[in-house]
Amino acid sequence: MSVQIPDKNSVEGTLLGQLNISLLKVTDEWTKQENLDALRDAIVNIKEDIEKRSAAGCRLLRLVIVTSDITQEIFRWQKKLGYPELTSTDENAVVAGKTLTWGDGQLGSTFSIIILSEVIGRGLISEDMGFKNLASGVFAHELAHVHDDFIGIHVFGPESTPANDDWIGIQQYFARIIWSEYFAESVAYVYLEESTISNQIGLCLKMMQSCNENIKREIIDYRSNGDIGQIWNYSCSEISKTLNQLGRVMGLLAKHSDDSLRETLIDQIGEISPSLSQLANQLYDELQLIDKNKKWDDATFDNLAIIVSAYFHLNGLYPIQNSEGLRLNIPLSK
Ligand SMILES: [Zn+2]
Repeated sequence: MSVQIPDKNSVEGTLLGQLNISLLKVTDEWTKQENLDALRDAIVNIKEDIEKRSAAGCRLLRLVIVTSDITQEIFRWQKKLGYPELTSTDENAVVAGKTLTWGDGQLGSTFSIIILSEVIGRGLISEDMGFKNLASGVFAHELAHVHDDFIGIHVFGPESTPANDDWIGIQQYFARIIWSEYFAESVAYVYLEESTISNQIGLCLKMMQSCNENIKREIIDYRSNGDIGQIWNYSCSEISKTLNQLGRVMGLLAKHSDDSLRETLIDQIGEISPSLSQLANQLYDELQLIDKNKKWDDATFDNLAIIVSAYFHLNGLYPIQNSEGLRLNIPLSK
């Protein structure tokens, strides 16, 4: 465990297969050697397990940072790597973990770090099995991102965020993140308890419901203020976080032995709107197809991108890409 603040150079100087752990701005409990040893053991064991089981690419991981100030630490790295300062937002508002990957897509020269909140670090060494499993699931989710990021950079090159008038790019980008959330939860599944899974399903339903209502409300506002930029940015963020959560839940349900859970979810989504349940079914089938497809190419996420577009339509928004950029049609509802 190092006490120095790690930086990009130190990560790039770490050999493939070597893993450093850094604790930043953490409480005194971490000065106890037994806690440090337990943390290292937990991290190494989960990584080895996931590497063998489902995400061999997590070998790329060079560094795990455990910190009480995760948002600041994520920003620090995003700035250093020249990435836009975004955190993956889930509705729980607290960020528990974040993976950052960069490099050229070759094993020896692609690097990943995982930043975990101190709470998750504490969970990894907890004697409370519920807490420990939850924390292990968060870490396993991030390990899956390491693997998936690597495959993505290897096949498509470094990922860039699309401009907000690049509709084709946005659909592909959203599709890519939905997939990555699906995959991450399908990997984390082995650690998660039934109560966590049902919480995730509940959250998903809540988000789909509120996405629908919030966009309806924004459309009413738009009719009076005409601010097309506002409704576009707002809807993109609502839709992205909602579909990401749906992707996560699909990843859990894909591994779950009880198919009736998925059927119940689809029925409940149908209560929000019947067309939504049809879309959720298509999303599930498509994610499963991508999961089985071992050789990615430029068309791998095309069907998922079409589903993303259909979700915008179901929320009353019809973006069209033309030569000047993006035109957003918002027809009056019947
Ligand atoms: Zn994730």
